[in-house]
Amino acid sequence: MRMKKTVGLQNGLSERLADINDRIAIAAGRVKRSAKEVKLIAITKTHPIQTIREALALGVRDIGENRVQEAEAKISKIGREMATWHLVGHLQANKARRAVKLFDVIHSVDSPELARRLDRLCVEEPREVLRVLIQVDLGREPSKSGVYEEELHETVSAVRECSHLCLTGLMTMPPFFEDAEDARPFFGKLRAIRDDLARQSAFENFNGELSMGMTHDFEVAIEEGATMVRVGTALFGART
Ligand SMILES: *Cc1c(COP(=O)(O)O)cnc(C)c1O
Repeated sequence: MRMKKTVGLQNGLSERLADINDRIAIAAGRVKRSAKEVKLIAITKTHPIQTIREALALGVRDIGENRVQEAEAKISKIGREMATWHLVGHLQANKARRAVKLFDVIHSVDSPELARRLDRLCVEEPREVLRVLIQVDLGREPSKSGVYEEELHETVSAVRECSHLCLTGLMTMPPFFEDAEDARPFFGKLRAIRDDLARQSAFENFNGELSMGMTHDFEVAIEEGATMVRVGTALFGART
C-alpha cells in the first residue's frame, strides 16, 4: 500500500485552521462580540519547525511556545521577525534573559521578582518595551503556576513600576474539566478581576487583554471575554 505523503499544505492544517476560525466567530457571535476582538495564538510546542512554517504560510501571525529552549531553536531557524512570538509557559529566572531576546509577549509573569528581573534585562539587552501579561492561578492546583488573586496587586504594582514592561493583560489556565462548561466560572472570574484593574487604569492605554481558553474550552472562554485564545491540539493534533 502506498503511503500518502503529508507535505506542504496537504495535511489538513488549512481545514483545521478554517474550522477554528469559524468556531471563534460563532462563539463571539453568541455573546455579540466581534471575532476581530479575539486573537488566535497557535501553540506549537513539541511540533516541528515545518509545522510553524505551514501555519505562517496560512496567515497565522501569532505563535506560542511554552519552553524557552525549544522556542530558541525554532525562532533562530524561522526568524525573529517572521511572527509575533508568545511565551505561554512558566519562565524560570535563569531563562529570563533569553526570553527577553526571543519573545514579543510574555504571558506568564508570576512574581514581582520576575517582573523586576525582566525590566533589568530589558535595560541590559537593550530592549525598549516588553509586553507582559500576569498569569493568575485561580484553581490553586500544585501543577499550575501564576499568582494567587490576593497577591495580584503586588505584582501589578511591580510591573507598573518597571519602565520597560508594558502591562498588557492577564492570563489564566483553569483546571481541566471533562465538561468545558465547568471552566466558565474561572474565565468569568478572570474577566471580573481584569475589569476591576482596568477601572484603576492598571493597563497601558488599554482595557487589558484576557489570555484564556485552549483547545478544550476556548469557546467558553470567548463567551466570557477572552481576547487571546491559545490553541494547540485542535490545530496541530495531539502532542506525543
Ligand atoms: C500547551 C498549551 C496550550 C495549548 O493547549 P491545547 O490544549 O493543545 O490547545 C495553551 N496554553 C498553554 C499555557 C499551554 O502550555
